[in-house]
Order: sequence, then structure tokens, then C-alpha cells
Amino acid sequence: MENIQDKVIIITGASSGIGQATALLLGKYGAKVVLAARREERLKAIAEQIQQIGGSAVYVKTDVVSVTEMRKLADYAIQQFGQIDVLINNAGIMPLSYIHELKIHEWDNMVDVNIKGVLYGIAAVLPKMREQKSGHIITVSSVSGYRVDPTAAVYSGTKFAVRAISEGVRQEEGPTSNIRTTIVSPGVTSTELTESITNDEIKGWVDQMSHFAISPDSIARAIAFAINEPANTSVNEMIVRPTLQP
Ligand code: NDP
Repeated sequence: MENIQDKVIIITGASSGIGQATALLLGKYGAKVVLAARREERLKAIAEQIQQIGGSAVYVKTDVVSVTEMRKLADYAIQQFGQIDVLINNAGIMPLSYIHELKIHEWDNMVDVNIKGVLYGIAAVLPKMREQKSGHIITVSSVSGYRVDPTAAVYSGTKFAVRAISEGVRQEEGPTSNIRTTIVSPGVTSTELTESITNDEIKGWVDQMSHFAISPDSIARAIAFAINEPANTSVNEMIVRPTLQP
């Protein structure tokens, strides 16, 4: 993974699950990782873990729903390392519910974190990447970004949306600014994601799928693959799901 060495990589949602696994893997491959999430203690522990294996890691407590905090995150990466090579828009929530439950607050949160958080990430790094004439914006969508299931109307909506946004960035910024875009879409993966589900029946049904869930390390490897490809190669979409997932 020689093309990952020394890259400056911002990862949102780095405090658990897929973001944590990705940070550890990229840190192992010699990237300079900038960890972002709200739970600062966890970020600190993960950064220390990366430093213990000889890697380079810093962290910034960040709420992705704040454009100001996202800009501060990007500024900190530039201040520490002078450039931004990759942004991994990974932070996300999945409070599944039936539409008729009208959990409007949860709909708002999903739109804010899963869509606006991604847009604010793009806004925070794009000026620097355009100036550099290089960069890579990776966004974690989902199998739910390709299909809709009951209880997942809003969640799927957010994950379809980020695929559209990533494709738009590709069309506008690939040919002109040499910026790569990647959508990584996991299937059922063992993380804390289902903890945001407030309907116990739905949570029980989703948790039943955990017997075939894959490790977040599988998603981290897919992300590392996309980063490691040569600069002239933009891996635009990857779906990584459990073999046993229907
Ligand atoms: P986790 O719940 O383990 O991780 C979610 C991460 O997002 C945490 O680090 C959390 O950190 C962060 N986060 C949530 N809200 C915010 C916020 N407002 N600001 C900053 N960070 C935030 O779940 P996963 O690792 O599974 O989720 C990662 C991504 O993968 C998500 O986009 C999810 O939709 C996607 N995905 C996951 C699948 C799965 O089966 N696990 C399947 C398909 C897609 P903190 O709370 O510290 O802020």
C-alpha cells in the first residue's frame, strides 16, 4: 500500500465501527490521519493506539452537522500537515422507523448527519483540494443507497442522496481539478450503528442479521484499496456486503 504512505487523511465518525477500523488500518500503512467525531475520549485512545504502532494521528472533536466545526477540522489538518489528500465522509446514523410513526426529529437528524454532514465535509476540503489540483473525497453510503426496505425510507433516502452528490462532485471536479471520488457501500457490518434505533421491534429484527455481519475491517480494506490506486485512477463505487446477506 505504498500510495497511502504520508497521505493526509481526514476521517469523520472515527470514534467507532468502520471509521475506527479505517483509521487504524490507514495509520498502519503510514498515513497521517486526522480523526473526527463527537466522543473525544475515544478519539484520543484511537490516536494513541496508532501512535504506538509508529503511525501519525491527531484528533479534533467535531460535530459534522456544524459547518464551522467542519471548517475548523480541515484548517487543523492543514495547520498540522500542510495539505489534505483524502476526506473520508463516514459519520452516519441509522434510526430506522416506519414512516407512520412520524419520528420527525429522527428524520431531521438523519438528513443533518448523513447528507448535510457530507456536504459540509466537501465544503471544508474542496478549496484546498482545488488549490492543490489533487484530492480524494470518499463517502460511505450503504446497500440502502441502492435499495429501499420498509423502515428505511428516510435512511435510504440519505444514502441515495450521497451517491448523487458524489457523482456530481466527480463530474465537476474530476476533469478540472484532478479530484477523485469514491462511494463505499457496506452491507450489514458489526458496529454500534443499530444503537440509534428507538423502535425495539425494528432493532430486534435488525440485530437478528448480526449472525452474518462482516467485520468493519472488510470495509476499511475496501477504502484503503481505493486510496492506494494510482492518482489517475478514480474508483467510483464499491459495494461490500456479507456473502450471506439476502
Ligand atoms: P457506528 O455507530 O459504529 O459509527 C458511527 C460514527 O459516526 C461514530 O464514530 C459516531 O461518532 C459518528 N457520528 C455520528 N453522528 C455524528 C455527528 N453528528 N458528528 C460527528 N460524528 C458523528 O456505525 P458504523 O461504523 O457502522 O457507521 C459508519 C458509516 O457506515 C455510517 O455512515 C453508516 O450509515 C454506514 N453503514 C454502516 C453499515 C453497518 O451495517 N454497520 C451498513 C451500511 C452503511 P460520535 O458518536 O463519537 O460522534
